[in-house]
Amino acid sequence: MSYVIAQNLAKSFGSNQVFSQINFSIEKGEFITLLGPSGCGKSTLLRCIAGLERPDDGDLFVNGANITSKPAQQRGVGMVFQSYALFPNMTVENNIAFGLKMQGMDEKKRKQEVAAVIELVELQGKENQYPQALSGGQRQRVALARALVVRPQILLLDEPLSALDARIRKHLRQQIRQIQRELGVTTLFVTHDQDEAMSMSDRIFLMDKGQIVQSDTAENIYTRPASEFVARFMGHYN
Ligand code: ADP
Ligand code: MG
Repeated sequence: MSYVIAQNLAKSFGSNQVFSQINFSIEKGEFITLLGPSGCGKSTLLRCIAGLERPDDGDLFVNGANITSKPAQQRGVGMVFQSYALFPNMTVENNIAFGLKMQGMDEKKRKQEVAAVIELVELQGKENQYPQALSGGQRQRVALARALVVRPQILLLDEPLSALDARIRKHLRQQIRQIQRELGVTTLFVTHDQDEAMSMSDRIFLMDKGQIVQSDTAENIYTRPASEFVARFMGHYN
């Protein structure tokens, strides 16, 4: 049985149907990229998986359990957004430790866990800095550390690199992928950037107008596009 399974997920806002009939399976440890043009429903789908939105229909299973009605805090997901949702009045260390504190972990253990993820995202020496003193790339690494420190079952990344400049973006791509492999954490990464999807993914779910139109390896999506939309989106006619 696959680690994450979506069955017939549907979501509308009023009369705007964002998606319907979304079906997919993700294996444990896979890095999946949800790729598609702006407005096609990527963030809404990710938010349904995180428990921040409730789908109107369908079911979600993680590790065999139906989580469709589970509150977000009980889902074991870590999430990183495009713009850094860090607490401005907390140091890097306290930003990262926040989730563990909420869980009631004692201070000694907390310090150990935080130190381990700080090393993982290469922020040693920044522990006592405040977010405003950090670069965009460093802030996203704090956000990543904060998502990882609770050892999520699923890591959800919503365009975490889109606000960064090109050079840092390329470096962070590799860093995210390396950390993901090291931890073996099942990851769903959202982007509208074909290059990012091509260079990072085990498989790509290509989305258009609320449908997953092809799910396959980067190579197959590029060399065997299932439709003209896929071919165009992957840049065949540019
Ligand atoms: P993407 O992340 O692919 O750019 P979104 O999931 O953000 O797409 O948006 C998909 C559609 O859902 C858009 O038409 C958007 O306007 C609409 N939408 C997203 N969130 C809300 C919301 N909270 N309320 C109403 N409409 C929304
Ligand atoms: Mg989005």
